Amino acid sequence: MDIKKYKSYIFTGNKTTCSGCGACVQVCKRKALSMQADEEGFLYPVMDVGKCVHCGLCDSRCPEIKDKSNSVSSFQHCYIATTKDDKYYKESASIGICTMLAEYFLQKGGVVYGCFLDEVSWTSYHIRLDDIKDISKIRNSKYLQSSTQLTFKQVQSDLLNGTLVLYTGTPCQIAGLKTFLNKDFDDLYTVDIICHGVFSPMLMPLEVKYWTKLFGAEIRNFRFRSKRVYKHSNGGMVNFDLYKNGKFKRHVERYAASSPSYFCYAYSGNGINYNLRLSCYSCKFKEQTRYGDITVGDPWGIDDNDKNGVKLTEELTSRNSIRSLYSSNTQKGNMLLKEINQKLVFQEIPVEKAFVQAAVNYGEREIPQLREILFSSLKEKEYGKLVEYLFKCDLEKNHKKFKIRYWKSEVKKIIKRVLFSNK
Ligand SMILES: Cc1cc2nc3c(=O)[nH]c(=O)nc-3n(C[C@H](O)[C@H](O)[C@H](O)COP(=O)(O)OP(=O)(O)OC[C@H]3O[C@@H](n4cnc5c(N)ncnc54)[C@H](O)[C@@H]3O)c2cc1C
Ligand code: SF4
Ligand code: SF4
Ligand code: SF4
Repeated sequence: MDIKKYKSYIFTGNKTTCSGCGACVQVCKRKALSMQADEEGFLYPVMDVGKCVHCGLCDSRCPEIKDKSNSVSSFQHCYIATTKDDKYYKESASIGICTMLAEYFLQKGGVVYGCFLDEVSWTSYHIRLDDIKDISKIRNSKYLQSSTQLTFKQVQSDLLNGTLVLYTGTPCQIAGLKTFLNKDFDDLYTVDIICHGVFSPMLMPLEVKYWTKLFGAEIRNFRFRSKRVYKHSNGGMVNFDLYKNGKFKRHVERYAASSPSYFCYAYSGNGINYNLRLSCYSCKFKEQTRYGDITVGDPWGIDDNDKNGVKLTEELTSRNSIRSLYSSNTQKGNMLLKEINQKLVFQEIPVEKAFVQAAVNYGEREIPQLREILFSSLKEKEYGKLVEYLFKCDLEKNHKKFKIRYWKSEVKKIIKRVLFSNK
């Protein structure tokens, strides 16, 4: 086999060019490929050389080398929205647009694919839903990488059977699904979430072990985002329920910078990502020409006070921290959004003002030196202690500081409101 003509990770071994979407494994008719975890816990395709017939199909369907984004079109419209219905935003990552779309598909008799966090293995993977009762399984952001398993094949079979399908995932997963299918299907709708990277699945069980030890209780219903306690906080929030002897004890919310995984995952630490998949540092799927029919994310960089050239309506301004950014990227996306418009208060904003955050704009990020040290030291030191040692921080103190800051600002807001109403 002249492997020189093949450009994908399978043949080059270059990890920076493999997002782990799994399209190659699912397309190989010889079952010569399987996804296996490397020493950092990230899944990569591994070839059983004896089974491979050198057909090159896997290489031709790799989205890292085959471009399948939607071409820039007049259908691309961007919006900032909020929802007044607590039911949507409280349990969701942002305001629940993905959940509204999933609900619509399931009510129409279609099926929905999304990311599930399994609390037995503490891994994330994509699952297929056909019952609205299960919708909570795919809600909220899981920041560890989700395995697509054999869902691309399941989607293909659903589509061939005439079933309406909604697939939600990271842009690299949507790109992988599209290259896997290799043709357009009218019944397939896709949502890509704005994504700055995923951390290693290996860290999740360690994260849970950290909290289990700290609270001396079993952790259940783990989430990375919450609006339950710190309602007006924009940052991430690790939250879970504590159980003892099978009985619910209490609900816990901790600021992102007090979670070992979150701390190393940009935003909450020093702004650098130390635990991402290698391909995320030079992600080729971060672009304005999106992969899904619809894109959903947080409105980072879009300021209420017109600093960014966007003046939001009063209604949207008053709902600070309960807002999402989303776009329709295709005609299908446009049609689909009309079905959930009545659940949203929204305002259209110009495309060039919408996609301003780093997670939508291509740019190589340096792979920090501490990343390798973090992964290679995990066997020697307890996770929390290792993060505190490497980053010279105190995770619990980080939460205490956040709590003081948060409640001070809440009290200030109340005083302002009282003074204002007395005038
Ligand atoms: C790994 C990751 C990184 C992100 N980075 C950014 C960012 O930098 N900037 C930004 O604006 N927004 C980012 N987001 C998106 C944001 O956190 C919300 O997921 C998004 O706004 C959707 O919110 P929602 O309320 O509509 O979703 P919900 O209604 O809560 O539904 C969650 C949806 O996200 C999908 N999902 C959750 N976890 C994963 C996962 N690991 N892999 C694939 N799909 C998943 C589910 O399938 C589901 O459809 C990121 C999300 C993830 C998962
Ligand atoms: S070259 Fe063909 S047989 Fe070999 S792994 Fe790729 S798809 Fe499978
Ligand atoms: S198809 Fe996906 S998993 Fe396979 S090599 Fe390409 S990026 Fe990696
Ligand atoms: S940053 Fe890019 S490669 Fe990494 S998970 Fe997100 S879309 Fe995929």
